[in-house]
Amino acid sequence: MDTKELKSKLFYESKHICNTTEGKVIEKADEFCEPYKDFLQKAKTEREICDLAEIKAKEAGFTEFDKNKSYFPGDKVYLKNRGKSLMLCVFGSNSLENGVKISAAHIDSPRIDLKPSPIYEDSQIALFKTHYYGGIKKYQWTTIPLSLHGKIIREDLSEIDINIGEDKDDPQFVITDLLPHLGQEQMKRKLSEGIKGEELNIVIGSRPLNVDEEETELVKLNILKILNEKYDITEKDFLRAELCLVPAFEVRDIGFDRSMIGGYGHDDRVCAYPALEAILHLENPEYTCITMLADKEEIGSDGNTGMKSLFMYYFIDEIAKENGLSAGEVLSKSTCLSADVNSAFDPTFPDVMEKKNSSYINRGIVITKYTGGGGKSGTSDASAEYMGYVINIFDKNEVRWQTGELGKVDLGGGGTVAKYIANLNVDVVDVGVPVLSMHSPFEVVSKLDVYMAFRGFYEYFKAEK
Ligand code: MN
Ligand code: MN
Repeated sequence: MDTKELKSKLFYESKHICNTTEGKVIEKADEFCEPYKDFLQKAKTEREICDLAEIKAKEAGFTEFDKNKSYFPGDKVYLKNRGKSLMLCVFGSNSLENGVKISAAHIDSPRIDLKPSPIYEDSQIALFKTHYYGGIKKYQWTTIPLSLHGKIIREDLSEIDINIGEDKDDPQFVITDLLPHLGQEQMKRKLSEGIKGEELNIVIGSRPLNVDEEETELVKLNILKILNEKYDITEKDFLRAELCLVPAFEVRDIGFDRSMIGGYGHDDRVCAYPALEAILHLENPEYTCITMLADKEEIGSDGNTGMKSLFMYYFIDEIAKENGLSAGEVLSKSTCLSADVNSAFDPTFPDVMEKKNSSYINRGIVITKYTGGGGKSGTSDASAEYMGYVINIFDKNEVRWQTGELGKVDLGGGGTVAKYIANLNVDVVDVGVPVLSMHSPFEVVSKLDVYMAFRGFYEYFKAEK
């Protein structure tokens, strides 16, 4: 055996999918990604994604879970949690004694939330005060078009769904920044303070209600009058609201070769969508399969719609009891692909990455053995056995995969929902799609990787245990 042959036999290196895969993988990936782009454009918050996923589930034959009903192999159910988190389940022919298979992704993304009392006027401009949600580089969120999404509860407890800035004819909103001519002092600030939290103010209007030299706050009054006429609300109603601003950019193909997709909130819809599609396409699996779409990951998974809540445990407990088992018995035999994005190697910023353990766009679904920070703190760290199980499924079914770590040791780190599921005594590893400019208002992914994520979840659901 010459050196070249010996190297290809003994070395491991992940490769661009186009360099190694025969057939129509590019066409299939492009085809898979068109509806994903639509999904990305249409549903931007956990509530919107939850609603859209529910519609898609019903179309695919899922019914709302009823704990008093008996379910049989092939039955498909979903359970919604407070409009912000959704579980979908297809019952398998094998006993629940042998566990379930879970894929879990999150459907919240970094964004700009309104403060409870947000409206004010300064120098005849009306603005919203905000508090950002999740990890953002604040300066990236200025001078870009923003749309307003969310829900308001009126005095009489009636509800209003808000979505302003997405339609072509809608107005949009913006956070201002200083012109470079006057930005000399600002530009001496550290990048992390280039724009400070309290400077993330949203411009929402500039015309006074009428000409009256005596009165103040007439621009704010005009805005509230417009809102009152349209929605029958007053300033007090903002205290009963959840409103946020998200980038209003259109989702677009990126590159002359259209190989990538640019858009807001790939993290983690780029995993949630394939995990959702995988369960929607599943017919009569051997093992009971679950796709969990969780909220609140970007702020630590706390709360009743986050992955730390007992929502999934409760559902598994209900289906376990029906079969004379406990949730603990089912969970101890269960496995999970925790689906979240990883940071793709960026040739413009190579210093933060360790090349041999980075993920790269176009090399397939990333298996991340552990997330967390220095000294492996804050991660569930998948076992060798479970890594073996998942890699075997992917290899046997031509799911192209790679491994990745979130940057160099001791340089930063990150977390995801994996550990909260692992803590329930489940075998878990993190898998997902590599993203360029992660947590920015306009993230970029590769179409081939999105398709491989779908193939990964689907083959995992179908595989033997
Ligand atoms: Mn994520
Ligand atoms: Mn994130």
